[in-house]
Amino acid sequence: MTTVTRFAPSPTGRLHVGNIRTALHNWMLAKKAGGTFLLRIDDTDAQRSREEYVEAIRTDLEWLGIAADGEVRQSDRLALYERAFEALLEAGRVYPCYETQQELELKRKVRLGRGLPPVYDRGSLQLSEADCRAKEAEGISPHWRFRLDHETAISWEDGIRGSQKFDPAQLSDPVIRRADGSWLYMLPSAVDDLDMGVTDVLRGEDHVSNTAVQIQMFTALIAAQYQAQELPSFTHEALLVGSEGKLSKRLGSLGCDAFRERDIEPEAVIALMARLGTSLPVEPIADRKVLLDTFDLSTFGRAPARFDDAELERINTALVHKLDYADIASRLPEGMDASGWHAIRPNISTVGDAASWWRLVTGPIDACDFEEEDRSYLGRAAELLEWSPDPWSSLTSALKDETGRKGKALFLPLRRALTGMDHGPDMSELLLLIGEGRARERLRSASSS
Ligand code: GLU
Repeated sequence: MTTVTRFAPSPTGRLHVGNIRTALHNWMLAKKAGGTFLLRIDDTDAQRSREEYVEAIRTDLEWLGIAADGEVRQSDRLALYERAFEALLEAGRVYPCYETQQELELKRKVRLGRGLPPVYDRGSLQLSEADCRAKEAEGISPHWRFRLDHETAISWEDGIRGSQKFDPAQLSDPVIRRADGSWLYMLPSAVDDLDMGVTDVLRGEDHVSNTAVQIQMFTALIAAQYQAQELPSFTHEALLVGSEGKLSKRLGSLGCDAFRERDIEPEAVIALMARLGTSLPVEPIADRKVLLDTFDLSTFGRAPARFDDAELERINTALVHKLDYADIASRLPEGMDASGWHAIRPNISTVGDAASWWRLVTGPIDACDFEEEDRSYLGRAAELLEWSPDPWSSLTSALKDETGRKGKALFLPLRRALTGMDHGPDMSELLLLIGEGRARERLRSASSS
């Protein structure tokens, strides 16, 4: 059977690191198995869903290189949910409820006060047909709940959490439809997973109790012959926490825009997210094939995965140092060629840093102050400078022989005169890029400063 996974964001906001991680793992699970990865836009909440977020989700996934093999939108599939609802109604698995929000809140408090779990008491399930008609005559439209089967224990073998068991009597019958006819998350998601042929549901562990309920929905839908299909398998990954160890607000708003602003490469985000929370080492791996080959749910731990900005930056820097000129030429400052990239690459943390280092070649550079002795040394350097395939070596050895200088005294004044800085890229590479005319002029101007 071909693996089919899906990423199902609600377009009520931007994707954050937690969503990105879920999307990536679903993509990896499908791709590793040669399967299909689908994007499902969960936009049944018309009030909170926005088209701009749908666009932003697509843009972010594209930037990350997580391409969906297909896309569906729940708002296009309302007829499907209606049919499933009818089938469940027919099978006696949904029932109308008439409690107001305040009544439900009160019942909840009473149960909690008695030390009971705040589970819905199925008050409306006791109503007769006539009671229901009477409520409706009073102008109360019902909302609808799915009736859990208390006789059938719920269990599944979770891809990360192992054996999971739930007693349905400890769960509330979930509201699946509002009084205005609109859908809540629970039923449409189960209907779609069946209809889209999803074989593996992989999501955050905040969905564990939803899975318990949805397993009964899947079973009821299949039994009602709404769909003849098998249940998908379920995997819940531990949530992402900040480096401080807490579920942080900051992570909830940290997404691709912030990464792009900081000039973080998408491959750095991918390399980190692919392995964060697993027993595999997080490494600067740009080759997705390597990440896919080693992707394995059995390496995922149950402890929260810690997202650390410093780790992302470290991976980004290491990946930038390995980037080939051809892959990023269009993002480099004008005039910077392959040897320019090669010379400055080890000094940068982001591709954007290239511009400031490139100014050391094109100028203008900062003027430095020199002692009298260094000024005459630099004047002599300007005279001795001779162009060759390696002018730096010939210049420094000629200066060494003539002046007896060595180490810092030999090199530092030259670096400062030629670049205006005390540190930076390898001088033999840089000098070639600066070129003979400009180099001599900088040495001369430093000698007469
Ligand atoms: N729209 C749901 C969410 O964003 C999808 C959950 C799921 O994967 O089923 O939480």
